[in-house]
Amino acid sequence: MSIKKLTLNNIKLNRTFLVLFILGSIFLSAGFYLVIPQYNAVLNKNELSDLGSFEVRIPNIQYGLNIDDFLLEDSEVQPNEFFSKILYKCYDSGVEVQRLLDNTDNVFDVRKLRAGKPYKILKSKNCEGPNFLIYEESSYSYIKYDLNSFCAERVHKPVERRLELVEGFIGEGSSLYKSMIDAGVSAYQSLTNKMERALAWSVDFHHLQAGDEYKVYYEKVYVDGQELDAGEVKAAYFKHRNKDFYAFRYKTDELDGYYDEKGHSAKRAFLRAPVAFSRISSRYNKRRYHPVLKRVKAHLGTDYAAPTGTPIMSVADGVVERVGYTKGNGNYVKIRHNKTYQTQYLHMQKFASGIKAGTAVKQGEVIGYVGSTGLATGPHVCFRFWKNGVQVDHLRENLPNTEPMPESEIPKYLEYIAPLMEILHPEDQEEEEESILELSA
Ligand SMILES: [Zn+2]
Repeated sequence: MSIKKLTLNNIKLNRTFLVLFILGSIFLSAGFYLVIPQYNAVLNKNELSDLGSFEVRIPNIQYGLNIDDFLLEDSEVQPNEFFSKILYKCYDSGVEVQRLLDNTDNVFDVRKLRAGKPYKILKSKNCEGPNFLIYEESSYSYIKYDLNSFCAERVHKPVERRLELVEGFIGEGSSLYKSMIDAGVSAYQSLTNKMERALAWSVDFHHLQAGDEYKVYYEKVYVDGQELDAGEVKAAYFKHRNKDFYAFRYKTDELDGYYDEKGHSAKRAFLRAPVAFSRISSRYNKRRYHPVLKRVKAHLGTDYAAPTGTPIMSVADGVVERVGYTKGNGNYVKIRHNKTYQTQYLHMQKFASGIKAGTAVKQGEVIGYVGSTGLATGPHVCFRFWKNGVQVDHLRENLPNTEPMPESEIPKYLEYIAPLMEILHPEDQEEEEESILELSA
């Protein structure tokens, strides 16, 4: 076969296609005109709007069901209402009610049914009897009962997190949470708590001052388009008494916590023990046999045995709240560290000089000396740890703050917080850019 012949054949082929194409087009257009009038005739019979809406209808999907296929009965659990009573609205026989209860008790414990919570019964428009029962146990999840199959599943709704910056200032006689309400934060309680925790060791939230300013960059948690909670605080800034304080959440395999803008202020919030080189002679125990009183008495502290005269240190920064003596405690010091935590040190031989109510103390600062004043069998310090006014076992507390950041990690950390810093202070960035422009002009 020569090249020439091939070309000729191609031309012939192309012509055939062209003819077919033209014929086809005429046929198709004719068909189009023939069909359309009939189509219009159908549409004219009052169906035009219906067909129109059919084309653009978006199925209303809720609970994984096209809700428009069902008749909906919306209710809420009444006080003292049992789940079985609700089920009798769905089934005719007790046998069926029991069968559903037996089959689904591993999904939802019906004793956890709560008055006031909404539920829905969905009846199919086509078939007889209810098909689904939806119990809205929380904003985050619901239980979907398939009434025909006697089974149930717990469905977790998708949670969306959006990052947002909120800023505000503390007005005269105001507080952080009031200011957050003014700033329009829906989850103001949750966000206030999280922000206070992030900055707990640098800002004294008990003594905020008018004019203090803050910015917080955090996750807003949405479910079904509704803002439900404040998630993680990524970065927080507080200008307190004209000083700047920062907290950035930083997570690696080894570290997880809040660190300041330099990365190395993250000291341990609390010392493990108030005395060095001591041993624990008695732990926190709510049912301890008291060696002096000779009866069971809760021991709400941890005893550290050490020789008389051993220095006792404050386990964290704080302000001395009380210095006193009682028959049980002997000489004692109580220190407030922040809004949440206080510590108390009992049976002291004597107080360190200068320690009195109102004295500010640093972590590790000596506040007194080990003794056996009050109800004590031997020299020790009974260390009491108060959280929100309640004595707890500090050894079991998941205490805030973190391991110190190793120096080697700091460059990586600074790189990580640079964009967060820009979010907190975009105006600084602009000023910098402006000055660069001025310099180059
Ligand atoms: Zn004790």
